[in-house]
Amino acid sequence: MDIRSFYERDDVSRVCPGVKDTVTRRGLKKQKRLLNDTIKNLHEKFTQEGNSVSYSLFCRLRPFWVLPAMEKDRHTCLCAVHENTGFIANAVKNAGLIDCSDTQVLASRNMCESYNLRCADNECNDCNRTGVQLCRTPTETQVQFWQWKKGTKTYVRDGEQHEVKITAKVLKTMSEGDAVDKLLSHITSFKKHWFVLQHQSKQFQENKRNIQVDECVVHVDFSENFNCRFHEEIQAVHFGGSHDQASLLTVVLYTCKESPVSCCTISANLEHGPIGIWAHLKPVLSFVCDQYPAIRHLTFWSDGPSSQYKRKGNFFRLCSDPFSAGFTSVSWNYFETSHGKGAVDGIGATVK
Ligand SMILES: [Zn+2]
Ligand SMILES: [Zn+2]
Repeated sequence: MDIRSFYERDDVSRVCPGVKDTVTRRGLKKQKRLLNDTIKNLHEKFTQEGNSVSYSLFCRLRPFWVLPAMEKDRHTCLCAVHENTGFIANAVKNAGLIDCSDTQVLASRNMCESYNLRCADNECNDCNRTGVQLCRTPTETQVQFWQWKKGTKTYVRDGEQHEVKITAKVLKTMSEGDAVDKLLSHITSFKKHWFVLQHQSKQFQENKRNIQVDECVVHVDFSENFNCRFHEEIQAVHFGGSHDQASLLTVVLYTCKESPVSCCTISANLEHGPIGIWAHLKPVLSFVCDQYPAIRHLTFWSDGPSSQYKRKGNFFRLCSDPFSAGFTSVSWNYFETSHGKGAVDGIGATVK
């Protein structure tokens, strides 16, 4: 596989959604992408996929618009599982108890293979006891770290009280011993999370590589970065505030013959539930019908926040709308929450 296209793969790097997230070199302006992992790990991934190239050449062939993620970038779009495990690992490392705070390294030290369901599920007898190598014995000294916690917040709009689910950043304080225990339980769940991510990305790649003649793969995402807003705790403000906003649904259509087609629908309605999703998808479905009359099957892929796509209302519409539009079979696949980004993010950036 070509190294440059490997760097641009959605499981290797992600598009920065902002208008200003561009880099220009020798007159060539490109939308910035951030690597999802260290170059060292990605080189390993590349070789594991059956390619052979030296580390230095691999580094040299990185496209200039694909950048390693800086600490500040990492604060925007990672999921709560990644962030919470990272926060606590950093605190335990800063206390001088462990030598490494990289969550994937910590997880892989507790797995025979990182891509093995039995190891990830803690069902493998060789690696089901999570442990970390401690540099010294933990004491009663207190350590502090941040954690994302789910909660609810109420706000008033049009004289009515509304409740929204929010995720707030909470500062935790506990003894070194307790922090180590907590880290171990985080690593245990991280193993599963990591496996699921790798598996979903593999399935998505596979699906795109083997598209059937009558199939269209539809990758959808609401462009406004729901999770980032969530984390910043401004969701209540956002939904309760001014109405001069729009929701954008970005879609990438993959078919077996042509190169991917990007679409974006815009609405003044900020509804992100099933009604919103299918109102946005309606023109997309007719576009597919018009452009590709041979398509009968739709395979959807989306991020998995429960408030949006993973709801019974969505399934109900999935079982009716595409069929009235003339399709004969459908399926919907989910990425782990906050990990369903990719090409769709880039469209949002362009439109904004
Ligand atoms: Zn994650
Ligand atoms: Zn194992």
